[in-house]
Amino acid sequence: MVADKAVDSTEENHENLDVLSSTRAVIMTALEKLGYSNEVYELLKDPLRMMTVRIPVRMDDGKVKVFTGYRAQHNDAVGPTKGGIRFHPDVTEKEVKALSIWMSLKAGIVNLPYGGAKGGIICDPRHMSFRELETLSRGYVRAVSQIVGPTKDIPAPDVFTNSQIMAWMMDEYSKIDEFNNPGFITGKPIVLGGSHGRESATAKGVTIVLNEAAKKRGIDIEGARIVIQGFGNAGSYLSKFLYDQGAKIVGIADAHGALHDPDGLDIDYLLDRRDSFGTVTNLFDNTITNKELFELDCDIIIPAAVENQITRENAHNIKASIIVEAANGPTTAEATKILTDRDILLVPDVLASAGGVTVSYFEWVQNNQGYYWSEEEIDQKLHEIMIDSFNNIYNLSETRQVDMRLAAYMIGVRKMAEAARFRGWV
Ligand code: GLU
Repeated sequence: MVADKAVDSTEENHENLDVLSSTRAVIMTALEKLGYSNEVYELLKDPLRMMTVRIPVRMDDGKVKVFTGYRAQHNDAVGPTKGGIRFHPDVTEKEVKALSIWMSLKAGIVNLPYGGAKGGIICDPRHMSFRELETLSRGYVRAVSQIVGPTKDIPAPDVFTNSQIMAWMMDEYSKIDEFNNPGFITGKPIVLGGSHGRESATAKGVTIVLNEAAKKRGIDIEGARIVIQGFGNAGSYLSKFLYDQGAKIVGIADAHGALHDPDGLDIDYLLDRRDSFGTVTNLFDNTITNKELFELDCDIIIPAAVENQITRENAHNIKASIIVEAANGPTTAEATKILTDRDILLVPDVLASAGGVTVSYFEWVQNNQGYYWSEEEIDQKLHEIMIDSFNNIYNLSETRQVDMRLAAYMIGVRKMAEAARFRGWV
């Protein structure tokens, strides 16, 4: 296969922080290992559809502000596309594209009947009122309404979006469609057809694969020293699950800084004090930096924030023996190589964070059948799927002698490539 120009980052001596080109490079290697042609790579290297929208919102000060948003639909060979909507000032078109590809991979890994999609709006919800956020959310749905829907493309929460935003979006879509349509979006409040266990699903999925990884490395979670970067939806639930399991959470971080205690932080206290965006370190004086956080003495690190946090700058200084990626894209390609060479077990994002979309799928199934499951049923189904997926990827990485990221991509692309082949697309 001929490598894409964009894939090649070695020309200059800069580390490649472009998540889209790094993802494409791993997809290309995965397809090569599986024996697929360059045509399949050409099909999968970009979303099939990318929509850019501009949404005017009258702000509380009376002035109109126009926001830019995106919806990327990576590939619908397997089924309707699925993926969250991110509200963040750093959202870019490239990032949304990469995120949509990762959703396709996640769906392939946990074997859901979906392709991947992702949405994003460039905005900062930390500085917006409820009314402004509602107007923006409804405006976004009106703008993308023709390409989304319960059998086309099903959105969900992501960074800085939550069940209230899903509820506004569902209401707007139901008005456009002229009937009540809960299967349009997942991550809704329970009273509007949301599923038990959806809010904590990403963290639960991470906890399940973390326990499996710890067994492989002979680490007992009870007493293990764990560092978590990010105290948002995934990070906060994760810290609670692991704390309750007896782990010592020796470091946590939010966007402003990090907290450290070698004897373990009081997680219940921190959860009580965090705001709805996961900010808590601003209440303390004795903070450390995110850089220092990654270099702490610990057994396990869980990046649960944003992209490109573990790079060639800090990968050599990491002391943990396991890294579980709860965030999307937290480790660069170069850092992945350094960590693998150092025999650190890296459980990749497309596997570790797939619990969220898995329970979203359960929510969609429940909406479609109009019959709802108990929390125990959801938990049990999620456990089975995450453990099977972990073992499939771990075993493939052992038999093919590849790192777990490449093994995960190999499993993630396979079903999509096969579906595209049967449809006659490649
Ligand atoms: N935004 C989540 C993710 O990145 C969940 C997507 C979904 O539930 O559809 O996996």
